[in-house]
Amino acid sequence: MTLEFKNVTKKYRSKTALNGFTATLTEGVYALLGPNGAGKSTLMNILAGLLKPTAGEILLDGQSTEKLGRQFRNILGYLPQDPGFYPTFSGYELMKYYAALKDIKRPEERINELLRFVNLSDDSKRKYKEYSGGMKRRLGIAVCLLNDPKILILDEPTAGLDPKERMRFRNIIGKIGRDKTVILATHIVSDVESIADCFILLKNGETAAVRTADEILDIVDGKVWENVTSAQAAEEYALDRANANIVKRDGEVLLHIVSDDKPFDNSEPVTPTLEDVYMYIFNEASEERSKE
Ligand code: ADP
Repeated sequence: MTLEFKNVTKKYRSKTALNGFTATLTEGVYALLGPNGAGKSTLMNILAGLLKPTAGEILLDGQSTEKLGRQFRNILGYLPQDPGFYPTFSGYELMKYYAALKDIKRPEERINELLRFVNLSDDSKRKYKEYSGGMKRRLGIAVCLLNDPKILILDEPTAGLDPKERMRFRNIIGKIGRDKTVILATHIVSDVESIADCFILLKNGETAAVRTADEILDIVDGKVWENVTSAQAAEEYALDRANANIVKRDGEVLLHIVSDDKPFDNSEPVTPTLEDVYMYIFNEASEERSKE
């Protein structure tokens, strides 16, 4: 299966929310990464058919998704940040309810299989409102998978989850990505760092980069530096520079800088991470790092 975005553009009066987005997706996990306002929701809503593009089109195996209409929506699963599930329903009841809406014949077997897949079999009788954030996200995935979609869109999937739940969630997404197209939209690098096969970086509606996991770090190759310094000097330097962080390692204070040129005489090149790419392209730390 190929999902081809051709020059997809969305304008609101004077504001261009998405400008000429062009990319071809196949099976795998795609990270749609960018700060707030980058155009991620706009792109997802256009794909989901909730928003009409000003120009451009999306093709599924060569056919316009707009023309395919319902046929396309049937193979699409979309998990928004807040899916609005009935809080007093149990996990199982919610699955049953959505299975009925999606017209799934004899759903029990499918429901049990999916609850097992997302590790919720033991909690399926508990009310949704009693679920932890991670359990809610996993149930959301199970609901989205009921009709076995070929394309799954997840909005900010691990926001608010603890590290163990994040890992569990990533494992589930990794498995789904083996035979489906999974699009994860986020502004948090660690959400997608270890699971995405391909990265799409959006900045102010423009496509800043489309790279595979093998190529993404090339963007900052030879541009990431660290030098030992005093805590005070590091703080002064990093205070109002978007390309610098303070790192404490083995009792030393290090200035971690993403820069085309060597920033200090004692700066040593270091191995880049995805967070460095984010900083280089967006000129800001992803939320995760700035919270530390
Ligand atoms: P993201 O999901 O990456 O945070 P969005 O797709 O929501 O970004 O927004 C992209 C840009 O389009 C932002 O500058 C936003 O303010 C603007 N935008 C989104 N929806 C509307 C709208 N209905 N009217 C005007 N501008 C909008």
